[in-house]
Amino acid sequence: MNIILFGPPGAGKGTQAKHLVKKLNCFQISTGDLLRNEIKNDSEIGRRIINDMNEGKFVSDEIVNELIKDIIFNPLNKNNLIFDGYPRSISQAKNLDFLLNESNQKIDFIFFLNVKKDIIVKRIEKRKILENRSDDDLNTILKRYDTYMETTKPVLEYYSKKPNFKEIDGSQEIDQITSKIDTFINV
Ligand code: AMP
Repeated sequence: MNIILFGPPGAGKGTQAKHLVKKLNCFQISTGDLLRNEIKNDSEIGRRIINDMNEGKFVSDEIVNELIKDIIFNPLNKNNLIFDGYPRSISQAKNLDFLLNESNQKIDFIFFLNVKKDIIVKRIEKRKILENRSDDDLNTILKRYDTYMETTKPVLEYYSKKPNFKEIDGSQEIDQITSKIDTFINV
């Protein structure tokens, strides 16, 4: 099964992705983690993206598209992927359609975790203390939320027309969201 987890930063995509990885024994593609890894390894890509990441700006589609390509084409991951934080723009959504088509795959579910800004701010402030992420200060959080709203809204419109799009109230407790997702995937 291939699933997209969609929603603003702090909506709980990562938490639900981890649950799905355990339940379905699938592979999580977190573009945020892939990009943070590049920075941690001080790679050429890492050096190119560090400023944008720290300022809460999106990394270019070109870089992100390149990072996910091999993962999608890896036969071990076929029909076994959880997308967490990708796609975030129409160009990424179209790229994903293309790559899935080329590798003979499809998306089974798109879960939109919908959460309002005030709840996101509280959650990310808590996560900053727990995970010590450098892009989790309040200004960056607000910037990331606004960037998400501006850039990702068209993606939401693109997916919301699809029959496998499911909106879930992301302000609920983690367990409640998990059980909603489980009901939809029905395994
Ligand atoms: P996340 O861990 O998903 O909240 O992502 C953290 C940061 O990584 C974002 O604020 C962006 O700077 C960058 N990022 C993650 N995924 C993408 C993506 N699909 N496209 C562009 N930038 C991304």
